[in-house]
Amino acid sequence: MRDENCIFCKIANGDIPTYQLYENEDFRVIFDAAPATRGHALILPKNHYADIFEADEVTVAKAFALAKQMAEVMRNVLGCDGINIIQNNGREAGQTVFHLHVHLIPRYEGQEKILTWKQHEHSKRDMEELVRQIAEEMNK
Ligand code: 5GP
Ligand code: ZN
Repeated sequence: MRDENCIFCKIANGDIPTYQLYENEDFRVIFDAAPATRGHALILPKNHYADIFEADEVTVAKAFALAKQMAEVMRNVLGCDGINIIQNNGREAGQTVFHLHVHLIPRYEGQEKILTWKQHEHSKRDMEELVRQIAEEMNK
């Protein structure tokens, strides 16, 4: 399950050399080529899934279990004060490489905030409608 044209397939499967932090049967963890902060790493599945919608639940669960393990080790080694775990799906969500990946972005006291968004009001009517639709779909 690889895509010949996918750079992360090549990196995840060792066809392109990279700084590797960890590897197991299903994943390779590497440094991001253009880090947001010191130690910014990416968890790449060895199989190709464009995004979370294409991936199976077991792979996603394993990826997040690994994110927890990596976060613990990175906090110890890097001495960071926090870690953002980010996973973008779709161009509109900021995804630029269409091979599922999880960002581990260490955060250090005193550095600028890099994840901010404007906060908006949510109408009561819309919330009630969405609760009805989503809860109904989840409980099917
Ligand atoms: P996205 O925006 O898709 O969530 O994140 C893609 C990330 O992959 C970016 O942070 C970018 O710097 C990183 N990236 C893109 N190409 C390469 C590459 O060839 N090697 C590595 N190590 N990182 C890459
Ligand atoms: Zn791929």
